Amino acid sequence: MGIYESLMEIVGNDRVSNGQEERYFYSRDSGAQPSRKADYVVLPKTTEEVQKIVRLANRKKVPITPMGGGFTLSALAVPNRGGIVLDMKGMDRILEVNEMSRYAVIEAGVTQGALQSYLRRNHPDLQHSTPEAPPAVTVVANALIQGHGHISPRYGVNSDMINGLEVVLPTGEVCTIGSRSVGPSWFTRGPLPDLAGLFVGWYGTTGIVTKLAMRLYPKPKFRDVFVFSTDEIDLIPEAISGVTRLDLLEDFFLITQEKPDWMNHCFFVIILSAHGEEELTLKRDLYKNFFHDFAGGGKVDFVEDLHPALRKRFLDVPPLAALAADFRKGGGFEYTGAILPIDKIPEAWRKGIEISHRYNMLCSYVHQVLPGPGIMFGFNYSFNRADPKDRENTRKALEESNRLTYELGGMVWKGELEAQRMTMDRMDPNTLQLITRVKGLLDPAGIMNPGNWDPGERR
Ligand SMILES: Cc1cc2nc3c(=O)[nH]c(=O)nc-3n(C[C@H](O)[C@H](O)[C@H](O)COP(=O)(O)OP(=O)(O)OC[C@H]3O[C@@H](n4cnc5c(N)ncnc54)[C@H](O)[C@@H]3O)c2cc1C
Repeated sequence: MGIYESLMEIVGNDRVSNGQEERYFYSRDSGAQPSRKADYVVLPKTTEEVQKIVRLANRKKVPITPMGGGFTLSALAVPNRGGIVLDMKGMDRILEVNEMSRYAVIEAGVTQGALQSYLRRNHPDLQHSTPEAPPAVTVVANALIQGHGHISPRYGVNSDMINGLEVVLPTGEVCTIGSRSVGPSWFTRGPLPDLAGLFVGWYGTTGIVTKLAMRLYPKPKFRDVFVFSTDEIDLIPEAISGVTRLDLLEDFFLITQEKPDWMNHCFFVIILSAHGEEELTLKRDLYKNFFHDFAGGGKVDFVEDLHPALRKRFLDVPPLAALAADFRKGGGFEYTGAILPIDKIPEAWRKGIEISHRYNMLCSYVHQVLPGPGIMFGFNYSFNRADPKDRENTRKALEESNRLTYELGGMVWKGELEAQRMTMDRMDPNTLQLITRVKGLLDPAGIMNPGNWDPGERR
């Protein structure tokens, strides 16, 4: 029996396709990477179906690329060697919300939007860490790529919030990780060997996560946004260090854009939350005083008259901080997510502006401060999707900002293949060998999202 017929036997006629339209759609994403080739698209509904598909893929030596929302912009869910795209969005059940221990158990296809509205309706005192990505992205893939959400500056990146997993291994066995592997509850990941690390950051090359338990957090009754601005780029590291040392904020991002002129400053956007008004006032005053006295005083201004529309956008969950981008006709948007030490921000800031200008783009930045403190420094580029030259320029700008990231001692987050090559070129050879051995051990047939974290892909 052929692959297509076998897939139909597993999931039925309606959830598999090798039609031209579906293959076109799944052969690209909305970023600037060139399109590649998907041969089959399958939407499994159950872990058992995923298992059967994986076993079939092993027998037929056909690659599998798991996909959530497909929104990394780095084509991480676009197949490199053809084969099956396993679109997980059909597995969309929220299986449990435990109010007492504060976690949710969800299937791999549950989107950010779905979990957010489910919690609002049924558990209004709880929230999950929501990235500023489109609502159609999946909670599971976001956690697996070490994404970050609106409470990450306070509680950690989203992969830190994983309590447990159910995974279909590349050889077809189903395996649970965390407290669920020894008892009925998903309340914690440790104290056990931390096997979640075998699936976090691997881009689907080590297994297919079918369920995930995600920590939830109390939703504060009061929230407010405070914005401060400066033109003293060299003071940013000290400001971040001081702001985070106070240890009172929920979210903290930095934005700027060259146009309109009033936006051409560095804005510190600080979201505070509290359970009472007094707590909020206290926190606000502490930050105002901090910036008032910062670096001898007079270096940072408090933005008193924040426009109500901006106030709303910053306080939305997720916030819409990316209004900074110089969106062009054609609507393309890309960014290098550079995870940088904060002392390198001034150099990154200046050199990033030069990169944008070299490719005739206006500079716009959105950076989120992460625990450490470190920063997700977004080198943002907008382009016309319909213009091949513009797409190529964007790829060159990404490559330059990836290289700059490494020169500055940082790392590229959710890197496209080229960025992964740069990472592997710089990696401790023993670490790279360990990665290769782990992949080989888990996926002896080499079927899982091949090309990613693959030293053979290096030039
Ligand atoms: C405008 C914009 C703003 C953004 N802002 C943020 C932000 O603030 N924070 C943030 O974290 N991200 C952000 N992103 C990046 C990205 O959209 C998110 O990280 C998103 O959550 C990725 O999820 P996804 O479902 O789209 O992943 P996919 O692209 O579908 O998958 C990502 C990787 O995980 C693998 N994978 C998917 N599902 C599984 C599975 N079940 N098992 C094993 N492997 C799997 C895929 O093969 C792929 O390698 C933004 C993107 C855009 C376009």
